[in-house]
This record gives sequence, structure tokens and C-alpha cells, in this order.
Amino acid sequence: MACICRYCKNIQTEQLFETIDIFQNKWAICKCNICNAFFISPEPKQDQLKLAYDYAYYGECENKFIFSVEKFIDYFRRRKAKYIASLIPENAKVLDLGCGNGRFLRHLSTFGNYDLHGLEIEGASAERACKIKEIKLRVKSLKQNDYPDSSFDVITLFHVFEHIDNPKETLVIIKNILKKDGLLVVSFPNIAGWQAKIFKGKWYHLDPPRHLFFLDSVDFINVMEGFGFILVQKNWFSFEQNPYGWIQSCLNLMCNKREVLYERLKGNNSYAPEYRTFNIFFQKLFFIFTLPFFILLDIAESVFGKSATVRLTFRKK
Ligand SMILES: [Zn+2]
Repeated sequence: MACICRYCKNIQTEQLFETIDIFQNKWAICKCNICNAFFISPEPKQDQLKLAYDYAYYGECENKFIFSVEKFIDYFRRRKAKYIASLIPENAKVLDLGCGNGRFLRHLSTFGNYDLHGLEIEGASAERACKIKEIKLRVKSLKQNDYPDSSFDVITLFHVFEHIDNPKETLVIIKNILKKDGLLVVSFPNIAGWQAKIFKGKWYHLDPPRHLFFLDSVDFINVMEGFGFILVQKNWFSFEQNPYGWIQSCLNLMCNKREVLYERLKGNNSYAPEYRTFNIFFQKLFFIFTLPFFILLDIAESVFGKSATVRLTFRKK
């Protein structure tokens, strides 16, 4: 069955490998032979996506993760905010697309006086972001005419692009609403990295069916240059994302179900109940004892530009 490319809508595509999500649904990962985009097939149905997103943010907890993990992630949100603050002038107008619980923008507000805008789809994250008074939040996906042309100094998408169901249209809108010399900072899983190549359907950052679409960094840079952007920084090392990618992908190879440890770290104890406390204890030991090795491996994959994730910073000409 021919799959239609999610980016360029071509049908000259090929199926690369299969994957199974946390609900045990089967998917194929396809590649477009015209634009080189990778995408999930068949296209997930709305109810499948709703379930997957609800499950990602299950329950009524204050945060997505258990307290210690949330503190760890919050530290990296603060570092990202510090990086963005180093790039922008006082009073800059900032848009965080897919702002999640708003914590990144909250941190950014502590570094200067900025006009902070966030966009997030309906759900538990948006409800959390709503409570942060520094953010002008819109609960929706980005559409034409949501914001005036040339209005933002910086737009950020941290691990959001791969979730978007209309990537090309979104890039056009981003280009229009950014000011001249404005910055676009985007991070996403690197489908051309070592982890993706080794683990294929078991790769942690594949995250089916939430991740709809991938471009490798070379193709993404080409696309952005075509939109009139210049690459100003490429960052491969991510202590937050990459070593855990190795660990969870290894565990996915060893377990019948994917992301068992990850779901437990979110406090989701109802997922895969056949993995009992004793087994989870050993998975946590695996995490602790292999972490130093995988940090070293992340340094190596960063040197070769083959990390599990990448962050790119562009300037609009
Ligand atoms: Zn294509």
C-alpha cells in the first residue's frame, strides 16, 4: 500500500520498518523518495491521537512526571530559557509553540522583561500553563492569521515539530509571523542518528503515534534555507534527551512492551502491570548503572553529529 508523504504529499514513498505503540497498535515508518521526510503510516485517527495524548498526561497530578524527574526536567527548561534570553533583547516578543505546561516561558520571564506568548492544544498541559500569569496563552494549534505578520522576535519549538500534522503550512506561518532578523529555535528527534538506525521501531524517540513526522537535520536545514532562514547554531549534545534515549531503547529491546520504565517514571503504575515491582527495580538499576556509559556515548554521537536529538537556531533573512 502506497503511503502519502506527510510533508510534500507525494506517493513515491517506501516502507522502512514497523513499530508498535504503547497500546499495541502496529504502525509503519515510511520514507518519501522525493523530499526525504519520514512519517508514520497509516495516518493516526483523531481518537487514537486523543487517547495517546490523554495517556501521556494521565491523571490529575500537578505535573507530568513524579517529583524528582520533574525537578530534573525543570532544570533543563531553565537552561533553555537562559540560552534564549542570551539571544534576545529586553522587551522581545516570544512565542513558544507547543508550550506544554508553560514552565519554559515561566523560567524565561525571570531573565528579563519579555512579552511571552504560548500556544498549546487542549489538555492537562494547557490547563497547567493557564495558571501562569506571565504567559498570554492560546489553547489551539497554529493557524493563519492567529498573529500579525512580522510580530515575533523569537519563536521556539522544543520537541513539537514532529507532533504537527501540517508541518509545511506551519513553517510558512512561522516565517510570516517572525520579524526580519527574528530567530527560530527548534529541537526534534534525529532520525539519522545512531539510536534511530540501531533501534528502528524500538527507538524511544520514535514515540508512535504522537510523533507523526521526521526530517533529518540536513534536510531540515535545506528546507529552512529555502524559506529564507540562515542556520546560526547547531547543538547535538542533550543530557536531558539523549542518554535516556539509549537506556529506554535498550529496555524496549529487552521487554515485550515499549517505554515501561518511562511510564513508571511518569507515575503511571497502571501501564504494563505484568512488569512487577521487582522487574521495575532492575530496570531502574539498569538506568543508574548504564547512565555514565551512555553519557559518554552521547558525547561521541554529538561529535559525529549523530545524536538522538538536535537543536537548531535559525535567523530569518
Ligand atoms: Zn515528501
